[in-house]
Amino acid sequence: MKVLSLPSQIKGLIFDVDLTLYENREYYESMGPLMTKRLAQEKGKSFDQMKRELDALQKAFQDENEGRKLSIGNLFNRFGISFEENVKWREELFQPEAYLTKDDQLAETLAKLSQRYKIAAVSNNATRIVQRTLAALGVEDFFESVIGLDMSLVSKPTMKPFQMTANVLGLAFNELVSIGDRVEIDLELPVQNGMGGVLIESIQDVYALPEVLKKAQRVNNNI
Ligand SMILES: [Mg+2]
Repeated sequence: MKVLSLPSQIKGLIFDVDLTLYENREYYESMGPLMTKRLAQEKGKSFDQMKRELDALQKAFQDENEGRKLSIGNLFNRFGISFEENVKWREELFQPEAYLTKDDQLAETLAKLSQRYKIAAVSNNATRIVQRTLAALGVEDFFESVIGLDMSLVSKPTMKPFQMTANVLGLAFNELVSIGDRVEIDLELPVQNGMGGVLIESIQDVYALPEVLKKAQRVNNNI
């Protein structure tokens, strides 16, 4: 875990979902090829040809942007696929239930956190897939707000879904913490906009959050 910054008073936590609230790389890595296959079908190309074109565009972007990667949403957008279409494909193709199972320790962690903070999720995945992911993990009831790509219509990194979440929760940015597994996607912009930011490097980091946040709050209150 890396704590980038924390507000003096924390009232809400906004979690990224994929590779933040679960560690199953097999599920995560199933997504890219499914989307590439669907795009290849749409464009009448072979999977390999499509993959080469996607990889080339990604590499060109990275070379021009200090190694930053385009999200699948933004990458496919450059091949003429709207975010709406992208979301529809995800809803049809992704199967979180086939890979993920209930995580009792995660449920205990979120139960503790929800006593002190409002809990929300912001993801570049389809909202329906995010809800199904949270349900497969057995934690959907803890989330007061879930904002996916079809609701924000713009992929992180952007403040749009964070602003939407802040509005739903009735909280200001300086009362919120963004928690995710990728600095440039989940944390950089939120921190620049006054939110806290916590980098998750393994699921153990999520389990440790109640203690870490409580301690930080105590330090801030000089207790
Ligand atoms: Mg993630």
